[in-house]
Amino acid sequence: MAEAVESALEDRRHLIVEAGTGTGKTLAYLVPAILSGRRVVVSTGTKNLQEQLYYKDVPFLQQHFEQPLSVCYMKGRSNFLCRQKLYDAEKTPMLEGLQEVADFQIIRDWEQTTETGDRAEIKKLPESSSAWAKLDARRELCTGQKCAQYQRCFITQMHQRAHESDVIIVNHHLLCADLAMKEDDFGGILPDYTAVILDEAHEVEAVAGEYFGLSVSNYQFTDLLRDMSATARRKNFGSEELDRVIIQLQDAAAYFFSLFGEGDGRTGFREQSAFLAEHQDKYADLLHGLELAWTHLELVKDAPEEVLPLLRRARELHRALEFWMPAADPTFVYWLERRNRGVYLQATPIDVAPLLSSKLFERIDTVILTSATLTVAGDFDFVKTRLGVPGARTEAVASQFQYGEQALLYVPQHLPDPRNAAFTASASEEVLRLLRATRGRAFVLFTSYQQMRLLHDRISAAIEYPCLLQGTGPRHALLEEFRSTPNAVLFATSAFWQGVDVPGDQLSCVIIDKLPFTVPSDPVVEARIRQIRESGGEPFREYQIPQAAIALKQGFGRLIRSRTDRGVLALLDNRITRQRYGQIFFDSLPDYAFTLDFNDVKRWCESLT
Ligand code: SF4
Repeated sequence: MAEAVESALEDRRHLIVEAGTGTGKTLAYLVPAILSGRRVVVSTGTKNLQEQLYYKDVPFLQQHFEQPLSVCYMKGRSNFLCRQKLYDAEKTPMLEGLQEVADFQIIRDWEQTTETGDRAEIKKLPESSSAWAKLDARRELCTGQKCAQYQRCFITQMHQRAHESDVIIVNHHLLCADLAMKEDDFGGILPDYTAVILDEAHEVEAVAGEYFGLSVSNYQFTDLLRDMSATARRKNFGSEELDRVIIQLQDAAAYFFSLFGEGDGRTGFREQSAFLAEHQDKYADLLHGLELAWTHLELVKDAPEEVLPLLRRARELHRALEFWMPAADPTFVYWLERRNRGVYLQATPIDVAPLLSSKLFERIDTVILTSATLTVAGDFDFVKTRLGVPGARTEAVASQFQYGEQALLYVPQHLPDPRNAAFTASASEEVLRLLRATRGRAFVLFTSYQQMRLLHDRISAAIEYPCLLQGTGPRHALLEEFRSTPNAVLFATSAFWQGVDVPGDQLSCVIIDKLPFTVPSDPVVEARIRQIRESGGEPFREYQIPQAAIALKQGFGRLIRSRTDRGVLALLDNRITRQRYGQIFFDSLPDYAFTLDFNDVKRWCESLT
């Protein structure tokens, strides 16, 4: 892999490398990247992986290089403290409740000594700290170069470090935000670079869809109006007229967003013309309210710098609404998402390939994509097509693990089809039987929350092992509890299908309820399926099966994380053995030992203890 990466960097070619778990892919791309003498952006799937690269792999490599390595990391702005907000908060009361006051003290003390301003340094700050949300360096209230703290600002310093570094470690969210911004007036977030390495590259399509699309929510209006009033108060430009403008926009936004109904979920929105015919006046009121707000802000006499970001946000919301409401661009799918009290109007590119192609693959001559799960039945066509990089070189590096000896895949034959109503009851019996054989120590992974809760309720009442449920605590805390609780069982959905590492006996079994096909009624999936069909393709074969095969490989990949790990994999969906397409799944998975017989599972488990 290192040689393939080195050649790609030398020949200025795109490369896709599938490197199985345990191959050391991080070092295989970092070493040639460092030696290339080019400025390389390394993008990972998560912030955790970024930290692992920066704090573990880079120091390890440093021991073997004479020259100091020129490496830095960049994260999104909300990870950093805004010094100006902190100083303002000391003067103006803005904290609510004892928890916020306590968090504020921690942050204030830390600000005196931190060199990065990255909140990951403050381990004792709760993940969901509302004090942090009031102090972070998000762009919404930043006045940039006009800010008195600009030179000392952690964001400015992060950019300076990036300008002086040869390797910049980012995550896909930041990279895609940078690619999406390159074409607008603000320029990019990252300094210029000539090569990119995308680790966990199977996640890029989803992240790119999010960043190359658009989202407008009722919360953005609430936040803007709250910031307008607070800034007006703090900077003494408030007036009765401004209060009226704010109330008018508040009412218009509340009315407009209430028109989209109730109930959580993601739904398509294709009724734009009918909606506009009925509610044109409410839509016009909202646009007019925004125009009034920014006109008012423009007229503030001797306006302080803080007015500029407010103006920018009002205009961005106006532009986004004007894009979303007419739904005029056929390359986007327009949809709605309701979560708790939030209403999100979303537009997502149906196919990110042309966008990634023009924004990334045609602009940067060397892009290296890697992950343990990129091939489908040994073939790279799916990832090449989905991401828009048809001419890339490819390389598959096998894992060093002896999968046939380390893992047994079991597919029970007596269970009904998972689409059958009788499936849940039979599946929970089978899970119980498996958990007793493995003495817990298992992940039970689901494709839907509903099924996860149903099975958790049935099984936790019937089994003697501690059962943990996704959603009852932060992800890392649940994982920690799983690692430290003997014989624990974790019930989870997609959040735990990837990027989770539990080496050793504590995880000895992974059970998956169904083949992880994306839900075809989801608006984005539905639009992608329709587009493939309309262009003469077969969506099930070209999109749904490959996507599910990669997801299954990810899910089962949780079990074997080292050469000494051993355990049982169970798939409760026997369509894999009964339908013709099942072979594609088998051909995509490593060569696990395989059985249809539960007695083999029992024997395998006995050999584990
Ligand atoms: S430049 Fe922006 S983020 Fe930095 S301290 Fe000033 S307002 Fe905060």
